[in-house]
Amino acid sequence: MEFELHPHPTPVSADERAQILKDPGFGSYFTDYMATIEWKADVSAQREAAAAGNFLDMKGTWSSARIEPFGPITLSPAAGVLHYAQEVFEGIKAYRHQDGSIWTFRPFENARRLNRSARRLALPQLDEEAFVKAIQLLVEQDQGWVPDGDGQSLYIRPFMIGTEAFLGVRPARAVSFHVIASPAGNYFGGELKPVSIMVSRQYARSGPGGTGEAKCGGNYAASLAPQLEADAQGYNQVLFLDPTHDNAVEELGGMNVMFVTDDNRLITPQLTGTILEGVTRKSILQLAEDQGMTVEERRITLDEWDRGVADGTITEVFACGTAAVITPIGTLHDGDRVIDSSHSDFAVTNRLRQTLLDLQTGASDDPHGWLYRLA
Ligand SMILES: *Cc1c(COP(=O)(O)O)cnc(C)c1O
Repeated sequence: MEFELHPHPTPVSADERAQILKDPGFGSYFTDYMATIEWKADVSAQREAAAAGNFLDMKGTWSSARIEPFGPITLSPAAGVLHYAQEVFEGIKAYRHQDGSIWTFRPFENARRLNRSARRLALPQLDEEAFVKAIQLLVEQDQGWVPDGDGQSLYIRPFMIGTEAFLGVRPARAVSFHVIASPAGNYFGGELKPVSIMVSRQYARSGPGGTGEAKCGGNYAASLAPQLEADAQGYNQVLFLDPTHDNAVEELGGMNVMFVTDDNRLITPQLTGTILEGVTRKSILQLAEDQGMTVEERRITLDEWDRGVADGTITEVFACGTAAVITPIGTLHDGDRVIDSSHSDFAVTNRLRQTLLDLQTGASDDPHGWLYRLA
């Protein structure tokens, strides 16, 4: 796919950019450019595919690929995304290495996941190469926005939306894919402070057959009310459980959860369809195995967590995802019950975090070939 470049008439000045990059925070500032690709359905081909049993085959054509100035997207007020939440997204970072080169991490994992999410939301598939090329060309234009400070990166947000103006309920026949980017500092601030987590008893973010394993805005909308509840009670994040079975641990609103045991195991909830498959999760499981840990993907209940921390067999608990990388979990609050790991030194958590960060930032080598050069 060929992209056109639409030059920016008034990019942010180097001085202003330097000012922003000193303390970018998370998600507040955006680069000069964005990537856009548009899609139109081929309705008769879709009907044929459906008749042949492939009803999720969203036949159509991508076109008008471009790198253009970051700015408002013009949408009809009747666009599908605004009414029926037909949207999926990704999150991936670019890191500046010591020699000035810019790299990202396992971008084809994100490309494939975007397509899995898109399929669940009845959005079209996007060629994996086009996904990665959009990111690459965007970062090439926005190179000056990739910070080089400790813990800093460029957070990249690809997303796909239904744009067709139609209020009937069916998948949009016009869709667009965009990539925007935002310089980022440390997600939870500088130091690695254990966070406190609250179990959500009133709300769920997903359920069997729902969209839990798709990275879609709707899941996040559903997580906002419980997050407000946690904020109001003084907790940092919400833990979602499988309320229909045995209080098995699922994940946080935007991060997977892992447990370290005293006999060198790393346990994380297995993927059941209601949990998002994190690229960070997958990478940490591999790095842990490299370091001689035994990795277990299985159901783990709140009771097992409670007992494990009480008898010392679970020594550390942490959350992981692209935005915050790895965050130790100090306490879990479930009504009056508190599971307290805050006394831990989080030695394994810190080691895994440092291994991952060193790899991503080029400070160590890359034995699995996970880095992808952008510029
Ligand atoms: C994005 C996301 C994660 C983490 O995935 P990464 O690929 O590691 O960033 C975990 N849980 C949910 C619900 C997510 O949306």
